[in-house]
Amino acid sequence: MRIKILMIGIFILTMLLVGCGDEEKNSDKETEKNSTKTEEVAKIPSVPTDDVIVDDNFSNLQLSEVNKPVFDRHTIWERQEAGLPMELPPITEYTQGKVAYLTFDDGPDDKVTPIILDILKNYGIKATFYVCGNMVETYPNVLRRIYEEGHAIGNHSYNHVYKELYPSTDNFLKQISYTDEIIKEVIGVRPLIIRTPGGRAGMWTPDYEPLMTACGYVEHDWNVSSEDATSKKPNPQEIIQLIDQQTNKELKDGAAIILMHSTAQKANTAAALPGIIKVLVDKGYNFGVVTPMTPQPW
Ligand SMILES: [Zn+2]
Repeated sequence: MRIKILMIGIFILTMLLVGCGDEEKNSDKETEKNSTKTEEVAKIPSVPTDDVIVDDNFSNLQLSEVNKPVFDRHTIWERQEAGLPMELPPITEYTQGKVAYLTFDDGPDDKVTPIILDILKNYGIKATFYVCGNMVETYPNVLRRIYEEGHAIGNHSYNHVYKELYPSTDNFLKQISYTDEIIKEVIGVRPLIIRTPGGRAGMWTPDYEPLMTACGYVEHDWNVSSEDATSKKPNPQEIIQLIDQQTNKELKDGAAIILMHSTAQKANTAAALPGIIKVLVDKGYNFGVVTPMTPQPW
């Protein structure tokens, strides 16, 4: 009998110990989960010193400097839900002297974009990256680097597929606002500037403009092209020459908005970049980032 009681006692004790062990393991898992969460939160970078985060009513939107990227903490749907204005107030465009805006579309990627970022860092120049939502999903760390290094970021749709973007303004807005959410998840803010895939001379029709304006987006095309996405496939020297030729004439408001691309296939663009910068510096250009205050190129 005593042995039986002892056996039961040992059995209960063992169960209790095993139970405690499991509980400890569970709490370890919890701690692990919590620390992963903390890491995820910590990954959202702090706002770079030169950036402007618009206030709820966009009252701090006028800028006198050309190299301060502008972002919003709210997506358009968050603004709508909170009863905040979505449309921007009337804007005075920045037109002081010759300003070159280096813009890179279709990225980010993990091959060419980092090279471009290294070059820009070496020269101390800020540029503008019009990114696609699906690329940001694939390369969030590269977007984070673009932001942390003080460049401007614009929205270039989710997937760049014309037949999905251009049947209707609704389709277009869905891709733009969804891309905002993806960008905000990575850097904590979203852009106010967009560039429509293919440009306004492409499949963008006059219907798109009022909707974008009502939602507070400002679209910028370009007036100087590197032609790095055309069938010409220019080599680095040809890219430099193309940009040189197009910046010889006087451009509207002194603004050279230069179209380039930063995807894995655009190694020639990265190779041309130091030469492009030299050509522009020699012509007396300063460098700026695209904001809602950047003059329209045409
Ligand atoms: Zn594009």
